[in-house]
Amino acid sequence: MTYLTVPITATNLREVGEQLRRAAAGGAELLELRLDYLEKLTADSAAQAVDLAKGIGLRVLATCRSVGEGGRFSGDETALRNILAAACRAGTDYLDIELAGLERSGQAIPQFTPLSPERVILSYHNFEGLPDNLDDILYRMAGYTPGVVKVAYKAQTISDSFAALDILRAYQSQGQQAIALAMDEPGVLTRLLAKKLGAFMTFTSLDEQAASAPGQVMLAEMKNRYRWDSIGPQTRLLGIIGWPVAQSMSPLVHNAAFTTTGYNGIYLPLAVAPETKELNRFLDGLLERPWLHPAGFSVTIPHKQHALDWVRRKGGYIEPLAGRIGAANTLVFEQDGGVSAYNTDYLGAMNAILEAPGMSREKLQGLPTAVIGAGGAARAVIAGLVDARADVTIYNRTIEKAEMLAEEFDCRFAPASDLVRLGENGTDVTTTQPTLLVVNCTSVGMHPNVQHSPLPAEVISKNMLIFDTVYNPQETRLLHYARRAGAGTIDGRTMFLHQAAAQFERFTGQTPPLDLMHRLLEEK
Ligand code: NAP
Repeated sequence: MTYLTVPITATNLREVGEQLRRAAAGGAELLELRLDYLEKLTADSAAQAVDLAKGIGLRVLATCRSVGEGGRFSGDETALRNILAAACRAGTDYLDIELAGLERSGQAIPQFTPLSPERVILSYHNFEGLPDNLDDILYRMAGYTPGVVKVAYKAQTISDSFAALDILRAYQSQGQQAIALAMDEPGVLTRLLAKKLGAFMTFTSLDEQAASAPGQVMLAEMKNRYRWDSIGPQTRLLGIIGWPVAQSMSPLVHNAAFTTTGYNGIYLPLAVAPETKELNRFLDGLLERPWLHPAGFSVTIPHKQHALDWVRRKGGYIEPLAGRIGAANTLVFEQDGGVSAYNTDYLGAMNAILEAPGMSREKLQGLPTAVIGAGGAARAVIAGLVDARADVTIYNRTIEKAEMLAEEFDCRFAPASDLVRLGENGTDVTTTQPTLLVVNCTSVGMHPNVQHSPLPAEVISKNMLIFDTVYNPQETRLLHYARRAGAGTIDGRTMFLHQAAAQFERFTGQTPPLDLMHRLLEEK
């Protein structure tokens, strides 16, 4: 069993009681009493805190973390031993002892009656980064205890997580349990995959204020979004690769879809730093570890083009459409070890356009269309529009990119400064049909820069149909101007929904629960 452990980080006994109740109600499986957080910490208050925790009916781990290991305890060794001894007499089920303290004192783990030595968790923390002597540290730890060892270090990049996952895998295959985790956002997968790899426990926080280490996922998210209860050894690993990814709605939508369809997978935010070498290192790391059961990955800014190159280098399958677009937003890891690249942005964008009232493939033919932007999203949108025979002009801040794209897709290009002349033909009062389709494929207007628009309000007129691929916020400044001018609008969430649904199908081979996905996006 991997215990879902909630650190209790209250500063007084009244708050301890409150946090304990919230943790139990939220589904905690083990309570870590962080005694070092108590402002009036004595042997007595430590015993009272353990008493309170035992009253909850869950297992208890008592920890008094020293300042040097990221905690708040600054007392001496004798004071520490008195506190820990009191916690043991009060009946704690497990006790955390720091390797650093033992090595400093040159002593063995003390006997804390009535706690048996197997109930001691020997811990090592590194807040700088992944130590290069991790094997040596584990070896030294094994010399001290027959019990569980815990290593926690700061992940500087997502690939630093592999060391912790490798430790869990090695202990699991020897029938032993360990706790190994990489702290901070890039290490989040070590916290969530702990159960899959049979770790002794993983730590989750009640809320952001109560977190005891960087990168802890909240208890409610762990239980609901990440489906803690259904994670098992065969659970497949999926996620969104990008930088940043914290704001992404993909984990919400895909995990909920897995629950509804019964697919055994967990979909995580995977913060892969912008450098191409980081992407390659991470994808290579996944490929080398089939026991993680990597199954499928959404790819977002800034990795779409390089993800395609990676699959090409691995000799994988590239869907012709993704090859033509030159960007992959979907990677599938096949069961036989092969990898494939797809692009579902094309379908997402075209479905969103064709769902607009009065729009059809026929009406798109020859329709003057301004695409703003020349990045990954623009490539997919332009490919779709050119296939539908729309009359496309590309506008981009960096004109050279617009020119290259126009040549590649056989359409026109113009400098972004020409956008102010878009509405010059005026409003055609004889038709209710859009006479110009405008698609924003830049990140202008995206959270947090919500006050920006790629087009000034004066340029927008009633005969335009404005599609903003930005989906956060749902009504961008551009769409707000469009609505005010009486123009038709298409928001980025419609595209998001369709591209995510197509990804789900690629990942799982199942029909996507479109209604559920749509409802979740609306609620969000
Ligand atoms: P990308 O490859 O990095 O391209 C970004 C584009 O935005 C480039 O053309 C860039 O111009 C332009 N740009 C960036 N900042 C700008 C600024 N301040 N002023 C003018 N132009 C600027 O990114 P991407 O993958 O194409 O994504 C672009 C947008 O599409 C994002 O907002 C994303 O949310 C959205 N998107 C939405 C969906 C969906 O499902 N709704 C799917 C994919 C993408 P330069 O060439 O001059 O740098």
